[in-house]
Amino acid sequence: MSDKKDLWDAFSKIGEAMAAREKELDEAVEYCEYDMKLAVTRWVMKHIVQQASEGGSYRYLIYDRLGFGPDAYAPLCSDGLTISNEFDLNLRENIRNAIIQNDMNKIKEIVGLCDVEGCNRYISSGWPSDEGYRQTCSEHYREAHNES
Ligand SMILES: [Zn+2]
Repeated sequence: MSDKKDLWDAFSKIGEAMAAREKELDEAVEYCEYDMKLAVTRWVMKHIVQQASEGGSYRYLIYDRLGFGPDAYAPLCSDGLTISNEFDLNLRENIRNAIIQNDMNKIKEIVGLCDVEGCNRYISSGWPSDEGYRQTCSEHYREAHNES
């Protein structure tokens, strides 16, 4: 019981420290000179569009493209994961090509839908199987692994 409370207290302290750091960073923007804010925003937008064009993980975005260290992981995490996971400039063209090829499985793969025919739920699990790598919703994962 005491271990759980200690763990909860530690998580609470981490959450408070993260919130304080985010507040500090938000306030720093308020004191930024207009031209500096414009230059930094322009630079960041350029790198975000490169990420959307070329792809890459969240870590690649913040460490390699933007040049930050591990201290940037937490404060940039929420929006950075959205950019690296959801912002894809090739999405429309890839879907268009799959429609031209009338390849419904490719469309489902691009959109991130379960690989079971007729299932249109989003993928929640990726796992190896005898038929190759599978990506399914949680219901079909449980069904394939005899869980209920
Ligand atoms: Zn499914």
